[in-house]
Amino acid sequence: MARGVAGPEIERLIQLLARLPGLGPRSARRAALTLLKKREALLGPLAEAMRIASERVVVCASCGNVDTSDPCAVCTDASRDGSIIVVVEDVSDLWALERAGALHARYHVLGGVLSALDGVRPENLAIDRLVARAAEPGVREVIVALNATVDGQTTAHYVTEALAHLPVTVTRLAHGVPVGGELDYLDEGTLSAALKRRTAM
Ligand code: ZN
Repeated sequence: MARGVAGPEIERLIQLLARLPGLGPRSARRAALTLLKKREALLGPLAEAMRIASERVVVCASCGNVDTSDPCAVCTDASRDGSIIVVVEDVSDLWALERAGALHARYHVLGGVLSALDGVRPENLAIDRLVARAAEPGVREVIVALNATVDGQTTAHYVTEALAHLPVTVTRLAHGVPVGGELDYLDEGTLSAALKRRTAM
């Protein structure tokens, strides 16, 4: 390991920051320096926010979302459409769909996708809990919103099979041309999926 530019405390801060997604060692040093320079405006409030998060954040036993309460704010939000459950791989996907704001429904976080390579098996994911929730009265549709990767689609098929005996409609996200996308830049798989699943104007 390279010799540190600062004392062990600051080096530790840098090393911890470097473990965050999207931050390499160089960005971590820059982030650490910014934090140290803006001690009152940034470092203090951040440390406090992190302390509160580490003490109070829990995983919702129903949907797998993270929040400061269990059940989470999404599960207890009475204005949401309780007849639809959107299945996602991770909480980051739940957040992304919420940012899109296209649907005001409930979610179910699987906690990963099936992967022979990484040894992720059905019992490692929250699939049983999803089946139990989908069997509750009032649930009409389960939207499988998993990544369009091989593992994501394998998992989508598995989830669909697991729900097949229930009186719910199982749907999945459309594949195709992204909003603002140019055909010339798209890969063959995306183009062929878009053609196959074309819709009437
Ligand atoms: Zn929840």
